Amino acid sequence: MPETPAPSTRLMVIPAALVPHVPLPRLELLSDARTRGAECVWGGERLTIETAIDLGKHVTDDGFNWFPRACLRCTRRAVRAARNAHPDQYTECKGPTALCDTRRALHELLLELRR
Ligand SMILES: [Zn+2]
Repeated sequence: MPETPAPSTRLMVIPAALVPHVPLPRLELLSDARTRGAECVWGGERLTIETAIDLGKHVTDDGFNWFPRACLRCTRRAVRAARNAHPDQYTECKGPTALCDTRRALHELLLELRR
């Protein structure tokens, strides 16, 4: 019988709009388990349905789809780094830094992950 995950108030998915702002390791450097989402894409921790955070769909330049997942600790660190770095030379930002929607959304996500 398939296991149904218990309802949870914990955030398990990174909002799709924010995914491009959280840099991932290069796919070609990752093990098969990390590519499949069995292990944390950053730290290599073994993931379960309770601990995994979904980082959304990613497509490489040559059209390969992959669905990385990560543990809470590494996700927090990556989101914090993304927030602190934004806006940078890679991400386009309209408006003053302090009021940037992307930065605020990353900050709110970080607060969610701290719970
Ligand atoms: Zn990790």
